[in-house]
Amino acid sequence: MHGKAVAPAECDTIFALATAPGRSGVALVRVSGPQTEVGIRRLTRGEVPLERKAVIRTLFDPSTYDRIDTGIILFFRGPHSYTGENIVEFQMHGGRAVQAAMLSALAKLPGFRPAEAGEFTRRAVENGRLDLTQAEAIADLVAAETDAQRRLALRQHDGELSGLYEGWRSRLIRAAAWIEASIDFADEDIPEDAVAKSRQEIGEVRAEIIAHLNDGRRGEILRDGLQIAVIGSPNVGKSSLVNALARRDVAIVSEQPGTTRDVIEVHLDLGGYAVILADTAGLRQSSDGVEQEGMRRARARAESADLRILVLDGTAGEEGSGIPGSRGDDIVVWNKADLAASKTKPGLWVSAKTGEGLADLVELLSKEAAKRVSGGEGPILTRARYRYALEEAAESLGFVPPTVQPELSAEHVRRALRAIGRITGRVDLDELLDVVFRDFCIGK
Ligand code: GDP
Repeated sequence: MHGKAVAPAECDTIFALATAPGRSGVALVRVSGPQTEVGIRRLTRGEVPLERKAVIRTLFDPSTYDRIDTGIILFFRGPHSYTGENIVEFQMHGGRAVQAAMLSALAKLPGFRPAEAGEFTRRAVENGRLDLTQAEAIADLVAAETDAQRRLALRQHDGELSGLYEGWRSRLIRAAAWIEASIDFADEDIPEDAVAKSRQEIGEVRAEIIAHLNDGRRGEILRDGLQIAVIGSPNVGKSSLVNALARRDVAIVSEQPGTTRDVIEVHLDLGGYAVILADTAGLRQSSDGVEQEGMRRARARAESADLRILVLDGTAGEEGSGIPGSRGDDIVVWNKADLAASKTKPGLWVSAKTGEGLADLVELLSKEAAKRVSGGEGPILTRARYRYALEEAAESLGFVPPTVQPELSAEHVRRALRAIGRITGRVDLDELLDVVFRDFCIGK
């Protein structure tokens, strides 16, 4: 699909361990490239098996003829393979020494080299097997930690976004063609209403793009997690509360120390939704320069959060309205319920110390997460990269009212087409590929 000259590096046959390194029942080593069949013959000292037929073979080191292991090999002939090239998969016993011996045997074969991060998928894109949104969906599927993330990635992998964006692209290309024809063949028989219809079509595509953009960022929240900032005065128990939530074994996915000491992040799986809880410990009044920088970061984090939990001390006569960063729509939580004489103030009463009320808090947060990502049946926009490109497209298409000259209109539509094409990879493919595949892991 993407006709592109093959650079020398891409003629290499690449290999990688596709399963996680370390000890496992089975390890999978994947090979892709023009020398695949030669590699099979050298390593098995036998013929290439029928494609897609699993066979058991003994594997040998090609230089020493040492036996490495006995395993299953599975051959796929391009273009009907993941990368579009010839591929072989070796399923071996998952010991470290077996993996190491196999990788070193492959490295000895001429034209073979270890794959770079994301290189298998990159080849799949370059050979038109996947578009960029589908390739990104594979990265998301590998990274998915919650059910909602997994389902979202699968939908995108099925081509939900590719179909939508390519649909817009082809409608715009057709509309642009009529407008350009009216410039080039001004005196000839372009149907009178063709240009008017094209402008109308452009307006409709623009409206659809804007509706797709106006989704409360639910795809990004689903994919990246709902950002919740925990705010409040010093010593009300913010850190204790975040730790208590993280310790609830059902909730925790991973605990990451923050990049700064001012914001500590905990990644949670709340009812299937990814949630990132940030403890903004730095929110306090201070004249110390370092502290102030910390406060600035903490405040910025609180402001950009999707949701805030305002923690107040249930034993003190505190009011929430004066807390830096607090707003009307914060979830108010009174902590230290175990020490409080009365629990009459409105809000949720919890104790980070005894665990009282934490189940209710988790339930409330899960509901909030669900509320923010629900609604809407259509394809879900999942990445800021798509959002920026679509905003640019919508903006360009906004400059094509009937009063604008055809020449200018055509240029704006072309700009919009380039922006949408960047999402699926139909233009600027190379530079985009670098950005997209940098975050891939080896063997995918
Ligand atoms: P932060 O500054 O808001 O992060 O507050 P910390 O989490 O550091 O807590 C301040 C103090 O309050 C510590 O001594 C905690 O042990 C104590 N603390 C926090 N939560 C509770 C609670 O629910 N009950 C009681 N009794 N003490 C608590």
